[in-house]
Amino acid sequence: MTTANSSPLSVQQVFELAKQGKLFAGNLIVGGKPAKTVDNTTPIDNSVIGQIADGTADDVDVAVKAARECFESGEWKDKHPAERKRIMQAWARLLEAHKDELSALDCIDAGKPISECLNTDLPATIETFNWYAESVDKVFGKVAPTGTDAFSWVVKEPIGVVGAVLPWNFPAQMFAWKVAPALIMGNSVIVKPAELTSLSAYRMIELAYQAGVPKAALQMVCGRGETVGQAIGLHPDIDVVSFTGSTEVGRLFLQYSAQSNLKEIVLELGGKSPQIVFDDAILDDDAIDNMLAAAFWNMSENCSCGSRLLVHHSKKAELLAKLTEKLGAWQLGDPRDENVSLGPMIEQAHFDKVMNHIKTAQNEGAKLITGGHSVNIGSGWYVEPTIFDEVDSQMTLFKQEVFGPVLAVTTFDVDNDAIALANDSDYGLAASFYTQNLGRALKVANAIKAGTVSINGFSEGDITTPFGGYKQSGFGGRDNGLEALEQYCQTKTVWVVR
Ligand code: NAP
Ligand code: MG
Repeated sequence: MTTANSSPLSVQQVFELAKQGKLFAGNLIVGGKPAKTVDNTTPIDNSVIGQIADGTADDVDVAVKAARECFESGEWKDKHPAERKRIMQAWARLLEAHKDELSALDCIDAGKPISECLNTDLPATIETFNWYAESVDKVFGKVAPTGTDAFSWVVKEPIGVVGAVLPWNFPAQMFAWKVAPALIMGNSVIVKPAELTSLSAYRMIELAYQAGVPKAALQMVCGRGETVGQAIGLHPDIDVVSFTGSTEVGRLFLQYSAQSNLKEIVLELGGKSPQIVFDDAILDDDAIDNMLAAAFWNMSENCSCGSRLLVHHSKKAELLAKLTEKLGAWQLGDPRDENVSLGPMIEQAHFDKVMNHIKTAQNEGAKLITGGHSVNIGSGWYVEPTIFDEVDSQMTLFKQEVFGPVLAVTTFDVDNDAIALANDSDYGLAASFYTQNLGRALKVANAIKAGTVSINGFSEGDITTPFGGYKQSGFGGRDNGLEALEQYCQTKTVWVVR
């Protein structure tokens, strides 16, 4: 498990190692000292599955020194782009060979359904590395329109030392979204995974070294947000932090930057995304499946979760009947079981927060349609998928991100009210809506203030399209697409004046 050249493990072998408490994630720092370790538990049944490093600000400092030296030496950034591409492609092949192992690590660490990890998360992770590897020798600079008496060109240069601070909801995928574009541009990258989910990142970096990525170009410091995360935010020699997580911690990173070296900060934050069902929507199986996926996929621990369902009054009865019927097929249980589509909440504190939201919604007068209870399996942090009707725009459930399986249903009468309700949020990450009317579709798509809008389905786009939010869902750059490369570059203009 911890030796770089060990052969890939099967899903069952990872689950067995977890039972024996043998899964490990340590710091990966050039010249670093071994860190203290702490127990790592799984939300599946609260048992100890192994140990993770409990990094410190000193560890961050050592990592940054090595990262800076690597950057300035050109060991990675001055490799020919085709050579960086070859190494990243070799890494992607190793990830493919370890797909089952990495899937099982995310399942056990985060409580994510194994079928999702195997069929969605890890394929998307590997695709991300392949896609950015392919992009690097196709990025061109510009020549300025100077006239004949001068010559000027504009190039993108790697920015330097990158801090990638990650959330726990899609551990492997969020790692890929940040690390692939940052590294392929020639930067040195320091990763801080969420303390709750460090296992897959550790394994992926071991495989990066095996593929030929220089160790100082990609390091990892495990540990808590208030120590390691803060040290990255405040470090005077980190050039950019790309952060995905809560809006609250995103604000802290802006403060850290202001208090230190004005490093660039890219924020991908929370959401309270609307799904709108207009009076002409076709409510077939496919549409219902899409709405349920938007609302409950990944236990709704998903930033672009479609947690507000805005429905035309004429469609509400039919829609609620179809949603509750189909939701019955979503099995809640041990995420190691391939038939399970909903696992536990990530940890007890988060479970408590979700249950509080359910209580508050009831106290504020929302009408419970289905769910609403916790279920005592394993750890007991399992929450039934829950739907509340009669949620108005003043209620807490309409406004706050729950990050758990609680869908708020609100009724509207006319299109402009639907648009106003959709935009009545501090967030603006994603939105989806259902209609057969092209004119309406164009109007609504233009009017919605969100980074990703899907029509007649739920989508977060794919690796080719930029992902990120309006308003308090974030700013400073986009993940995915060629746009993500911009986060990790500086723009330089060169003039030949004679
Ligand atoms: P979080 O609590 O904000 O944590 C995110 C990262 O910040 C973790 O690595 C965390 O470390 C670290 N951190 C925590 N406190 C810190 C501090 N005081 N200083 C510096 N770093 C600190 O978010 P989360 O609970 O992991 O993730 C859920 C949130 O992420 C949701 O709001 C969700 O909407 C958002 N999200 C957004 C996107 C997007 O693309 N827009 C994608 C996924 C998730 P520790 O956890 O180790 O303490
Ligand atoms: Mg864990």
